[in-house]
Amino acid sequence: MHGRLVFVAVQSAQLLRPATTVRCRLTANIASKAAAKTCPADLASVAAKTCPEDLEAYERQLLQWREDLLKCGMDFQSLREILQAVQQSDLQRFFEQLPKGVDNHVHLLGMGKRSYLMRRLAAQDYDGAFPAFWNPQTGMILVAKHASAGYVPLPDPASSEFQTLLEFLTMQSKQDDSSGLDPVSHAWEEFEKCFDRIEQPFFFEPFFRAVVLPHIIDDLRYHRDYGVELRMNPCDKLWSFPSDRDASGQKLLELLKDVDDFHIVVILTFNKANNEANRKNNWEKARSFLNLHRLFPDMVRAFDFVGCEDKGVQLKELKDIILYMRRMSKFELKLALHAGETSWNDDTVTPTTTNSKYALQQLEPGPDRLAHVCTVNRDFKVLDLLMRRAPEVPVEICITSNLILKYCPLLNHHVTILESSQHPFVLGA
Ligand SMILES: [Zn+2]
Repeated sequence: MHGRLVFVAVQSAQLLRPATTVRCRLTANIASKAAAKTCPADLASVAAKTCPEDLEAYERQLLQWREDLLKCGMDFQSLREILQAVQQSDLQRFFEQLPKGVDNHVHLLGMGKRSYLMRRLAAQDYDGAFPAFWNPQTGMILVAKHASAGYVPLPDPASSEFQTLLEFLTMQSKQDDSSGLDPVSHAWEEFEKCFDRIEQPFFFEPFFRAVVLPHIIDDLRYHRDYGVELRMNPCDKLWSFPSDRDASGQKLLELLKDVDDFHIVVILTFNKANNEANRKNNWEKARSFLNLHRLFPDMVRAFDFVGCEDKGVQLKELKDIILYMRRMSKFELKLALHAGETSWNDDTVTPTTTNSKYALQQLEPGPDRLAHVCTVNRDFKVLDLLMRRAPEVPVEICITSNLILKYCPLLNHHVTILESSQHPFVLGA
């Protein structure tokens, strides 16, 4: 157990290197949930003891709780109950005190508490603030001197309308109908809209500087992180108004670089949307990205292709741009690739399965990391390829995201397969 805890503490050193030492996070995370459900009262006394025999007993108990959790049936309601119990448990407090190292696979636009950011927007209490509006038809939020057609002022933060808006923006709305014929694609489409709806104010320069960035870093520090890996496309961001957009992405990265005593790594993201403009933009972006890597070599470390996994450009069509990025950066830019995350209408031969196989079978050199690979659960060939690939390709896992977006069976998340196969992965992605 001792060794495992040390590995938790030092996992930040594994940035963009094979995450062979971080598997212990599974034990820690799942055990803490199981522990909360089982007997939280015993935990403080167990954890307080430090002699080796007790630590061994402690580890055995953790493993038992993990087994219990993996066996227990979970629907969303009971998952919530477990999470609530976890938040109140002694073991949770114990883990909260541990240094966490680095948060892997974080999408910048998905960070920060929506409720906090929305309240700060509504309050206009930062230098350079403009009023914030929203469109009740689309849910889009906008800061502007004047409301555009269809937009109305944000509701008062104390009102029930504000609460309803927050629930809508965080996919917790009771009106959100995900029970139709195609709940999986519905969940994904709604999920992507969550990013679009907040994007303009999120990167409104005065708001980003004064509120968003300090909030994100404070939150990470509060959780004992001392670094973060941000997936982002910084180009055309950090604007006050469209004409001021930072097309090169440089201004945004300079702000991130100025954050003191906090290690930030950037993974640059291309878009997989399947349209002519995007295909052209991605080559332009490739040149901007390489320039950003040249300007910020210690911070810009990898690239990825995100979004539209099933309906977007397929991976084999992206091989030229992948090779270009690697060669032009002298192979310093690593490929941390989203692959096999979604499951659209068909669970058999979908583009997402083809993409994960292509990444493992055809890419030379192979990807440096793969994100999600839920397809391991649906196609044994993917696991076989994953196990055979050398050097090993670590997998980034986010159980919560996979379950909420309905990409994995509740009782059999593929992380259990990776763990029993002794394949390296990192949790919390
Ligand atoms: Zn992701």
